[in-house]
Amino acid sequence: MSFKKLLLLLLIVALFISAFVFDLTQYLSLDVLKEQQQQLNSLFAQNPFATFAIYFAIYVISTALSLPGATVLTLGAGAIFGFGWGLLLASFAASFGAFLSFLSARFILRDWVQAKFGERLEAINRGIERDGAFYLLSLRLVPLFPFFVINLVMGLTPIKAWTYYWVSQVGMLLGAAVYINAGTQLAQINSLGDVVSADLIGAFVLLGIMPIVAKFILSIVKRRKAFKGYHKPKSFDNNMVVIGAGSAGLVSAYIAAAVKAKVTLIERDKMGGDCLNTGCVPSKALLHVANVAQQTRNSEHLGVKADNVQVDVKQVMQQVQDVIGKIEPHDSVERYEKLGVNVELGNARIVSPWEVEITQNGETKTITTRAIVVATGARPLIPQFEGLDNVDYLTSDNVWSLQELPKRLLVLGGGPIGCELSQAFQRLGSQVTLVEMADRILSQEDQDSAELLAQQLQRDGIDLKTGHKGKRFEQHDGEHVLVAEYNGKEQRIPFDRVLIALGRQANVSGFGLEALGVETDRTINTNELLQTNYPNIYACGDVVGPYQFTHVASHQAWYAAVNALFDPFKTFRVDYSVIPWVTYTSPQVANVGLTEQQAQQHNKQYEVTTYDIGELDRAIADDSAYGRVKVLTVPGKDKILGVNIVGPYAGELLAEYVLAMKHGIGLNKILGTIHSYPTLAEANKYVAGEWKRAHAPQRVLNWVEKFHRWRRS
Ligand SMILES: Cc1cc2nc3c(=O)[nH]c(=O)nc-3n(C[C@H](O)[C@H](O)[C@H](O)COP(=O)(O)OP(=O)(O)OC[C@H]3O[C@@H](n4cnc5c(N)ncnc54)[C@H](O)[C@@H]3O)c2cc1C
Repeated sequence: MSFKKLLLLLLIVALFISAFVFDLTQYLSLDVLKEQQQQLNSLFAQNPFATFAIYFAIYVISTALSLPGATVLTLGAGAIFGFGWGLLLASFAASFGAFLSFLSARFILRDWVQAKFGERLEAINRGIERDGAFYLLSLRLVPLFPFFVINLVMGLTPIKAWTYYWVSQVGMLLGAAVYINAGTQLAQINSLGDVVSADLIGAFVLLGIMPIVAKFILSIVKRRKAFKGYHKPKSFDNNMVVIGAGSAGLVSAYIAAAVKAKVTLIERDKMGGDCLNTGCVPSKALLHVANVAQQTRNSEHLGVKADNVQVDVKQVMQQVQDVIGKIEPHDSVERYEKLGVNVELGNARIVSPWEVEITQNGETKTITTRAIVVATGARPLIPQFEGLDNVDYLTSDNVWSLQELPKRLLVLGGGPIGCELSQAFQRLGSQVTLVEMADRILSQEDQDSAELLAQQLQRDGIDLKTGHKGKRFEQHDGEHVLVAEYNGKEQRIPFDRVLIALGRQANVSGFGLEALGVETDRTINTNELLQTNYPNIYACGDVVGPYQFTHVASHQAWYAAVNALFDPFKTFRVDYSVIPWVTYTSPQVANVGLTEQQAQQHNKQYEVTTYDIGELDRAIADDSAYGRVKVLTVPGKDKILGVNIVGPYAGELLAEYVLAMKHGIGLNKILGTIHSYPTLAEANKYVAGEWKRAHAPQRVLNWVEKFHRWRRS
């Protein structure tokens, strides 16, 4: 705790204790108020402004210090100033004092509480950020919650100070009115219990839950409004219809079938979507072949000589298709039909919140459903470059049908797809130029990780052009050229084929969302339940984002399916707290949790521990001793905030940290776990060892050293 905070805390505690030591609280009792009423009334008559000011100051100070007595002070306002002025004065004084108490709690304790219990408080924080005003209003209206507790606890939450103030002011007005009214007839009150009867408390409780009831009614009205103009069928053919059979759609349908719901899955192209047909699977298969070629070429120093390594691209692409073919049965119509899913191969269009039209071979039919899950994925983003119309460009959709290796391949975009495909083609034999507008590749990754990969890509022979902004395509003497801007000057980069890898665009149009008015930005807008503005239409996967990965699509699919099937009885908020991802280049680049740059952006304190994979026995034996493990931890603690690994099989090494972060396991426990020798996974133990060494208890060790010296003597 900082010196300033400590000082303020001590001051508040000292003032609080002195109020009791000097028995000042006796003046805040009903008996004293009744005894003194006449003097107070004459003081007010003689000197109204001074009485106002003194009363206001006493009320604010006692509330700010959380002293008991607010009820008596409020009665006093009625007795001395009458109803109108009393109400004005007491409600402002109470709100102002409560605000000071709230600010003190926030200043002194909030950072500490959020740092210590932040993760456990995450759900509460989210709730307060969303509905804090509602909760506060309810708490203020229900007299069962002690006034000072609300002030202090609210100070520890993320509620905005201004929201806290005005909601308190409004919420306290009603309660204050009752006490002030009673104060105007002070003589008839013998105890504080006389002021509020059980019936009155009941009425306040009812008032207190009103905001929550109002919110519930509002959501029903919103729901009705969304459905206005559509006729809801009396019964449905399906519990759920899923549009798109990629990673997100397949898992949604699987979950629905597993819980015995009637579900129809509609796919217009290939089962398995991007991941199987044009994404993860072919890219990993291609990288594998490219790495074999590279290792064969570079194996002379190991004593293995392979002269003149030849790559037959037709055969390579056939191998890629064979791999897809082997995995295809996992996502096939047959498998899903067997699981209990009704699969329809056709084009889906949503025609009402409960009806989906399917067009197959020119014929159209309409099916009804209680809920819809949109899982239509994304496609390569192709910006409108001047001159692009004259270029037969490649994307991650069509690159798999190449039958000839481009001699000079230009890859536009240094994200994960651009980096993976650049390395694959370079290693297969193309001369690749990788053009990236930012000053580094992999902008979402830890900066050092990106740098380590950049060095390897350059060692592979890739011409890496960061800071180059592609502007237009031209043709010169039958040669294709990209004109790019670099340091304010135009540069011409010639190429034979260009692969555009500039991001992915969500498929949000052309299947009924526009006509229905489903809200979209660049992706479909959903809430934490993955619900669109139509309460029975959900969305998941790349069409929602923000993380466009297969495992995130499947993760979201569970939430979308369960919420779609069981809302309003039980719903779950999607949890993005521990999301790993991997770029499958050589070396691989893997990440979970915060990078250093993100920690800095969020003003999060952290410590860094690294371990050099160049030192790892197994990596040395495998001739792949390159990379490092970097772990971010809470200062002074072994709690993991983030891990970035660059190295061989970094994605596999990461799994241990994903588990650790998900279940709150720290570096001490990883260090205390046996890792087989010699494995790459030992790097995880060694980095934990590095952390332990840096946090060794030096004082204790000095004593232990003395102990051993004594035993030797
Ligand atoms: C080259 C590349 C490599 C990748 N590598 C990885 C990786 O290694 N790891 C990883 O986690 N992720 C990777 N990804 C990302 C991953 O492929 C996607 O995140 C994942 O496929 C998203 O799944 P999805 O179900 O949301 O969408 P998709 O897989 O795109 O599925 C959407 C489906 O909906 C269908 N559809 C759309 N509209 C309609 C309609 N109106 N009617 C019927 N059907 C419709 C489409 O035909 C499609 O089959 C890679 C992507 C690419 C391009």
